Amino acid sequence: MIYQKSSPLTIENIVNSKINSVDFKNLKFGHVFTDYMFECDYTDGSWVNPIIKPFGNLSISPASKVFHYGQAVFEGMKAYKDDQGKIWLFRPEENFKRINKSSKRLAIPEFPKDLFFEALEKMLVLDKDWIKPGIGNSLYIRPFVIATQAEVSASPSNEYKFLILFSPAQAYYAGDVKVVIAEHYSRSADGGVGAAKAAGNYAAQFYPTNLAKEKGFQQIIWTDSKEHKYLEEAGTMNVFFRINDTLITAPVSDRILDGVTRNSLIALAKRDGIEVEERKITVEELKEASNNNTLKEIFGAGTAAVISPVSDFSHKNQVYHLPKIKESYASIFKSKLLNIQHNTSEDSFGWRYPVQ
Ligand SMILES: *Cc1c(COP(=O)(O)O)cnc(C)c1O
Repeated sequence: MIYQKSSPLTIENIVNSKINSVDFKNLKFGHVFTDYMFECDYTDGSWVNPIIKPFGNLSISPASKVFHYGQAVFEGMKAYKDDQGKIWLFRPEENFKRINKSSKRLAIPEFPKDLFFEALEKMLVLDKDWIKPGIGNSLYIRPFVIATQAEVSASPSNEYKFLILFSPAQAYYAGDVKVVIAEHYSRSADGGVGAAKAAGNYAAQFYPTNLAKEKGFQQIIWTDSKEHKYLEEAGTMNVFFRINDTLITAPVSDRILDGVTRNSLIALAKRDGIEVEERKITVEELKEASNNNTLKEIFGAGTAAVISPVSDFSHKNQVYHLPKIKESYASIFKSKLLNIQHNTSEDSFGWRYPVQ
């Protein structure tokens, strides 16, 4: 997609920073936003008027297609600050490629790479005080695209807004997660949009997740929509199963989001001599492994929580408990990943991206 050089990035400065009103010791995830936001319009076939400006409300027509047809995609990534005050991103090119892949699937025009990185890095510098050093602290980055053409006809919009928001995030331990294995509802299907970070994918999970919550579980592990036989992912996280000392995760497909965390864990495991298999795994195999005590761990992997250990899973109203183990893969991989992200260990894969 062409970015009109005649439409350079402009910056509108804030008058007063909100930062002193924020309690960085008690951050709720995704609740507080920084001083700035990025906004860029797509009109007449090109992206124009890119601007970094004070965070504030949008004014768009209630007829905007995003409200009626859900034409919207997003990304989730993080920035980190090391003890020298330097800012780092983690594999940001992967997120950039993925938002354009998601956009393509939703018939949204792709966004230019040079403008994405220029805007992201300039905004990170403007909001740099919002990034706190220390393992686990980070700045959550939310790029997203919405269809803004004011017309209630079911066809792709010819106008869009590309935005980036920042939200400071804290090291937190949410506790072990109890999950239900899906038997009826589905998150995605073959040929569908499961592999895209399409906004509607998440809304569709809220109702079945509420049902699981009523029964004392926090999340659902989705299964294939045809037979509910194969374990897939958790809806905002990919899922790993450790049977004996082998890590198993479902192969990515049309139905599964190709997570950067997942991909990084697989690379780290291979580097460090831990056996890892990307293959189909059935609910039956999991139950059998639990029954014969070879199931050691289940954990989710995604940018927001990094790694979330699972303590219990339920299937056909039967609950299977995982015993606590020492030296879990979940904790080992979490600290390896965090140390790379925070520039406190070597980065043998070249995943860290310095912000200039
Ligand atoms: C974002 C997301 C993930 C995790 O991807 P990361 O790149 O690791 O953050 C997994 N599954 C779904 C459905 C997601 O939306």
